[in-house]
Amino acid sequence: MTIIDALVELQEVDGRIRELELELKDLPRRKALETARLSGVSADLQAAKAGEDYVQDRVKGFEEDAKALREKIQKLKATQAGLKTNKEYQQYSVQIDLVTHDLEATESSQIAAMDDLPSAQAKIANAQAKYDAEKEGVDAFCAEIDERIAAVKAELEEAQKERAEKAKAVNDPKFVLYYERLRTKRWPVVVALTHDGVCDGCHLVQPPSVGQLADANARNGAAGKPQSIVACTMCGRILYR
Ligand SMILES: [Zn+2]
Repeated sequence: MTIIDALVELQEVDGRIRELELELKDLPRRKALETARLSGVSADLQAAKAGEDYVQDRVKGFEEDAKALREKIQKLKATQAGLKTNKEYQQYSVQIDLVTHDLEATESSQIAAMDDLPSAQAKIANAQAKYDAEKEGVDAFCAEIDERIAAVKAELEEAQKERAEKAKAVNDPKFVLYYERLRTKRWPVVVALTHDGVCDGCHLVQPPSVGQLADANARNGAAGKPQSIVACTMCGRILYR
């Protein structure tokens, strides 16, 4: 195998590693997006619950008011029973009527407030059902993502082992160093020089001398002779024919 062939094989593994690493970065993001969507549905449910709390508080408030009014009436009646004169008795009757009127109004308000409960509770039930359905979907999606993360990690581990083998096969430190340096800045590093003499990486037309060097390199490789680095004059990628 020529050094260029070995380098191309190494690059193929590196390409897979790059894709797997990208996917590994992207997967948690997709999971976070789904979870964020669920928290929106959860907020609707919280709002529905707060709505019911509000109605319950109103009902309770009227109930307490009514209880206080009933106690007041009891006290007034008890006092009235011990009164000596008709005039005083009638004054108390007027007061008792007023408070009784208040009590009736309060009880009406309580009943009206209670009428709001069923719709408030229906809203909770709706929101809860929506949340449950969404959560089921999101949980399943997240479980799939977790499975994929585990699979990608395993694939990555395999690819790293393969890479170590392929890197060993490139037994020219000059080529390895050149490749490793360029790998983070230009991808792919090793590209074909087309028949028209164009770099397949940056598409710049190369001077004829580059084409001649690439052809000589190919001949040397075929003859089992050492190959040299032929680089694009623009992007520095390793060119081969
Ligand atoms: Zn180029």
